[in-house]
Amino acid sequence: MELVLKGGTIVSSNKCFQADLRITGEKISEIGSDLDTTDGVIVDISGNYVFPGFIDSHTHFDLDTGTTKTADDFASGTKAAIVGGTTTILDFATQNKGETLSHALSIWHKKAKGVSSCDYGFHMAITDWNEAVAKELAIMKEEGITSFKLYMAYENLRVTDAQIYQILKHMNEVGGMVGMHCENGDMVQERILELKAKGNLTPAAHPLSRPSIVEAEAVNRYISLAYLTNTPVNIVHLSTKEGLTEAMKGRERGQKVYIETCPQYLLLDDSCYEKADFEGAKYVFSPPARKPEDVECLWKALSEDKINTIGTDHCSFHFKGQKELGRQDFSKIPNGIPGVEHRAALIYTYGVMKNRITMEQMCKVLSENVAKLFGLYPRKGCLQVGSDADIVVWNPDYEGTISAAHQIQNVDYTPYEGMPVKGRAERVYLRGNEVSYQGRVIKENTGMYLPRTESLYLM
Ligand SMILES: [Zn+2]
Repeated sequence: MELVLKGGTIVSSNKCFQADLRITGEKISEIGSDLDTTDGVIVDISGNYVFPGFIDSHTHFDLDTGTTKTADDFASGTKAAIVGGTTTILDFATQNKGETLSHALSIWHKKAKGVSSCDYGFHMAITDWNEAVAKELAIMKEEGITSFKLYMAYENLRVTDAQIYQILKHMNEVGGMVGMHCENGDMVQERILELKAKGNLTPAAHPLSRPSIVEAEAVNRYISLAYLTNTPVNIVHLSTKEGLTEAMKGRERGQKVYIETCPQYLLLDDSCYEKADFEGAKYVFSPPARKPEDVECLWKALSEDKINTIGTDHCSFHFKGQKELGRQDFSKIPNGIPGVEHRAALIYTYGVMKNRITMEQMCKVLSENVAKLFGLYPRKGCLQVGSDADIVVWNPDYEGTISAAHQIQNVDYTPYEGMPVKGRAERVYLRGNEVSYQGRVIKENTGMYLPRTESLYLM
């Protein structure tokens, strides 16, 4: 089966140019002008941009937090992803204490297999480090897991500084990349107790429990440990100006420090926690939404290519029945928000259309850099002959409004309710098959597991 997409403007990380694309089977087979086909289909896409399929390297689908379970599983989450133009997601398989990494991986394979509508891979979150787990790192690599995740906060997930140091040393041997949740867990715990003792129990206490310095200190500590071990590192969901300053210090002394931020840190600020009727709970995620000056600082860093990727940290809980678990105590509100569906539209509308970043930069932070950093390039992350035909035909003229009433994400609200957006994924192709058209899923469950190679390290 052959397909020619005709008349679009192709977006790459360094230019936008007019060209037609030929797709043969699952791959891009030709890029050029005036392409024709005798036995295939021609789709006129003039007036549209063409991006490589977007990659979201930060989702939590089908995750049990101990008190509740995320609203989206792999079925609903990946459908939401593809309508928004995201053709690959990387989710976090998470080791439970006392269990092996292999066991965690087998559980995540079960969650995703046969029900994923976009291609997928896993990072492995290590929560229980010991010698046996150290030996498993090589097995993980054979299984296509080349990136890992550690937490400096959350009682049930966090590892110690000594463990971080040891894990980073092992990463040099296996060539793995460690993403870190950078917040000082002890400080967060202490401040939660303090706030509760003073009777501060509403969502407004959430940002007070984890101020900017809690992130900045953890970023500094993480890159200091990585300096000692000489290991490249990734900082996930960076949210503050102070955190960015600390990360840049690492780069200035020659370290490979990669940075991810998320749409919530680019579009929301901490005024959201003041909403009445417990509505502030809809914005309880960690790190929390910050000040307007942090928001501007992160956009500036994106425009200067200092931030490498934008993932969503999609971790959805219903307002009714789930966020409400913390009605009497903000620290019991499940942490996380939905976002996998709306990432590209938000970044296009509030980034590209507001001249904060270019189309080429959007291509980099949503696709190319992500593919390179996580061992998927050039199969994913670019439109090149031989690459998977994961393609987003982007209609720049579409105008709409984000609303929970017509989202695909299986959750009863969106933190972006009522926000106008311009542009949408008009047609989305996954390995040559059209899987979404004008915001509707037209082909589901065709996602494949992606074993990954080592990171290509961006700089
Ligand atoms: Zn996360």
